[in-house]
Amino acid sequence: MSGLSHCAAHEAERQAKLKARRARAQTSAAAVLARVLYGDPKWKAARLTFLRQHPLCADCGELGVIEAATDVDHITPHKGDRKLFWD
Ligand SMILES: [Zn+2]
Repeated sequence: MSGLSHCAAHEAERQAKLKARRARAQTSAAAVLARVLYGDPKWKAARLTFLRQHPLCADCGELGVIEAATDVDHITPHKGDRKLFWD
């Protein structure tokens, strides 16, 4: 997986942006597929593994700050594509 980890502060910022994007895309076929993918127990397990391997927030790292990450971000929007999602 080549995603990014985020701390609570950056995660909140990211979620706000995602919320706006989701409001527009909520009903698209890709959004429906994404919901299925994130509901996959395999994703939940992979997310925890990724956070163990990338425990620090990528955005904070860029700023020279060390902060524990709380979530995983996909660099390439997967739009429900299984191959991209699991990258
Ligand atoms: Zn951060």
